[in-house]
Amino acid sequence: MKILIQDKFDKSLPGRLARFGEVFEDPKRVAEAEVVLVRSATKCTKEYIDGAPKLKLIIRGGVGIDNIDSAHAKSKGILVMNTPEASSVAVAELAMAFLVAIPAKLIPGHVAMTQSKFLKKELKRTELFQKTLGVLGMGRIGTEIAKRAKAFGMEVIGCDPLVPKSEHAKMVSLDELLAKSDLISMNLPLNDSTRGMVNAAALGKVKKGVIIVNTGRGKTVDEAALAAALADGVVGAYGTDVWMSDPPDFENCPLLKAPNVYMTPHIGASSNENLLRIGDCVVSILDKLAKEGKL
Ligand code: NAD
Repeated sequence: MKILIQDKFDKSLPGRLARFGEVFEDPKRVAEAEVVLVRSATKCTKEYIDGAPKLKLIIRGGVGIDNIDSAHAKSKGILVMNTPEASSVAVAELAMAFLVAIPAKLIPGHVAMTQSKFLKKELKRTELFQKTLGVLGMGRIGTEIAKRAKAFGMEVIGCDPLVPKSEHAKMVSLDELLAKSDLISMNLPLNDSTRGMVNAAALGKVKKGVIIVNTGRGKTVDEAALAAALADGVVGAYGTDVWMSDPPDFENCPLLKAPNVYMTPHIGASSNENLLRIGDCVVSILDKLAKEGKL
């Protein structure tokens, strides 16, 4: 079996996959590949798939498969698998890092210190204790965030059409979540119901000064409406790991010019531990499919 590792995985993975066949990392050899391993960087478009006539399996190391034209892959009999369970803790910890750091004024405090400014009087922090966290998307990652927020003494409410009940959050409507949350964590997949979900209408219903953290997908917010809400102080701060594209359009992304935006370059899943867990899942998938004679 010929396996192309196309994106960044744990460096031990090529060695762990050697027992399945030849493993290579040169994208120019895609036409030879029977299995392709991608994360989010490679876009498996129709053209990409058509350029790999021997392909039987695409494994997306991670959760969302919106970088893969799954319908086209299916039409050609190519299996598309992902590793959805692996990343939950890694992403939840990054969301918590934003949720802790933003009200703690960690980043402006640090930046000012690097500029020899001692903002002891100016920087007033807010606590998480007894604040309400609204979790938008109570799936695997949202649930891990809810559990951690409870440990901070927060009230946790959640909104998710597929999760009527949760032991970790009181489930409420979207309008109630927007109206009651002091902080909102967005952990949504990108689909027709979530694209641009946090738009001007939704932002018209939030508590003034709400902190929004997005570790789901960049396109679930309307960037122009959010930038305007940040400029007006309707939204107190926005912490985001996710963008309209990776990387964002640095010249034209309105959020890059808006105040109180805290940013990371889509590293939610990129913990060392998670890359190892993703590798474990890739090996299990290959073992299972090989045993079933599907490869
Ligand atoms: P999941 O499928 O377990 O949970 C997503 C939840 O969102 C589901 O329960 C679903 O019902 C809910 N949902 C869908 N539409 C909704 C709507 N309109 N309103 C409210 N809830 C809605 O997925 P997960 O493992 O928790 O991952 C969530 C998302 O996080 C992924 O789809 C992916 O886009 C993103 N993600 C980002 C990173 C990163 O690096 N930042 C890493 C992994 C995953």
